[in-house]
Formats: sequence, C-alpha cells, structure tokens
Amino acid sequence: MEAELRFQELRHRMVEEQLVGRSIRDQRLLEVMHKIPRHQFIPSAYRHLAYEDGPLPIGEGQTISQPYMVALMTQLLQLQGDEKVLEIGTGSGYQAAILACLAKQVFTIERHAALAEQASRNLSRLGITNVSVITGDGSLGLPEEAPFDGIMLTAAAPRVPKPLFKQLAEGGRLVAPIGGVKGQYLNLWIRKGEKLEMDEVAPVAFVPLRGAFGWSVKDWEDI
Ligand code: SAM
Repeated sequence: MEAELRFQELRHRMVEEQLVGRSIRDQRLLEVMHKIPRHQFIPSAYRHLAYEDGPLPIGEGQTISQPYMVALMTQLLQLQGDEKVLEIGTGSGYQAAILACLAKQVFTIERHAALAEQASRNLSRLGITNVSVITGDGSLGLPEEAPFDGIMLTAAAPRVPKPLFKQLAEGGRLVAPIGGVKGQYLNLWIRKGEKLEMDEVAPVAFVPLRGAFGWSVKDWEDI
C-alpha cells in the first residue's frame, strides 16, 4: 500500500516533469498517463525505475518505451474516443493500455509469444477489456480488421510496411519510427484520399521491427 502511494507520487512527477514539461498538451492523454500504473508492466528487477525518463528491459531483448515517447506517439494519433487502432509491437502492453483508454478498440500484435502472454495478463489485471493481443508478424498488419483510424509501430522499420498503408482509413493517422540501427526518425502519415501526407516529427531510437517487412538480423547489424 505504501509502495503504491510512492509509485503514485512518482507517476505524478513523471507526468508533470517529463510530459507537461515537454510538448504534451492533450489533457485526456495526460489524465490517462497519470492513471495507468506503468510499474505494473515492468519486471520486478526494474520496477523501482518505472517512472524514470527512459526505456526499460522487459525480456526477450525488448524494451518498454520511454514514457515521453509513449505520450508523444499517442498524441500524434489525436484520438477522440471512437477509433479502431492497431499497434505493432505489444511488448509489455503499456502502450496498448494507454491507447485502450483513449480509443474504442485496440488490436496489438507481438512476435514474441511470451511477451504477448505477459501483456495480456498485465491488461486483464487492470480490467482493460477493449484490447485484443495477437501473436504474430505485425509487419503484415491485420487485414481482417482493417481499416484502422490509427496505426502505431513501436519498433524501427526500414520503411512503412506496404500492407499498413492499405489498412489505414480515410483521414487515418499512422505513426512510425523509420530508419536503422544508427537512429531513426519518428514520422506521421495522414491518409487524404489516395494521397499520404507525411511529417517528420523527431529523431528517435527504437529496437528493430522484424518480420516480412522489417529488418533482417544481418541487415540491421550491417548498416
Ligand atoms: N509498445 C511496447 C510497450 O508498451 O511495452 C514497447 C514495444 S518494444 C519498443 C518493440 C516491440 O516490437 C518488441 O516487443 C518486439 O518484439 C516487437 N516486434 C518487433 N518486430 C515485430 C513484428 N514484426 N511483429 C510484432 N511485433 C514485433
């Protein structure tokens, strides 16, 4: 109980200093980041660092993203509450939990079965019921549930996987880190009819997207 109160205090400070103190202005998003207990998505060895300003290991060589990055990417989707969203790279399930509180329905795909199972447990523990966690290659998207109003890639891709553009609804927004091992750019695309408008948002550093439209181990290491 005392520990939970301490985490709550740290979470409040995280929101004020790392999010409000930077560029995060979406009030619904700030409330949700204030509410969702990030420490419950983190392995016990690192839990005391849950509200620090950085990514943390979650197993399988993967990470939960920095809180500011979660907030920035979510803010770019401009969710109002009635959207269908696809996330690629479930990891711990934390980003999916944030999306679930801001959209109607969330589908999230993770290639590591062990992470997908842990993420499902993390989400159910919090009583979140509008997220479907799928184990598989997210670079192919989820054609059977398309179109999506928002698509978010939480792993670095060489370019936006073609199937994902096809699965983006009219007016839909897609956020993705594009680039290689030396660094990537977070980009935003908005579908306007047959056109896709693109904006470069910020330099970032993510783990690689694998799968059919992702990086092979060799290419990621060689570039
Ligand atoms: N969003 C996560 C969270 O809230 O904890 C963090 C995601 S982590 C930075 C990137 C994740 O993408 C890893 O868990 C990795 O296994 C996953 N990933 C990489 N390539 C993938 C693919 N082709 N399909 C699905 N997941 C993939």
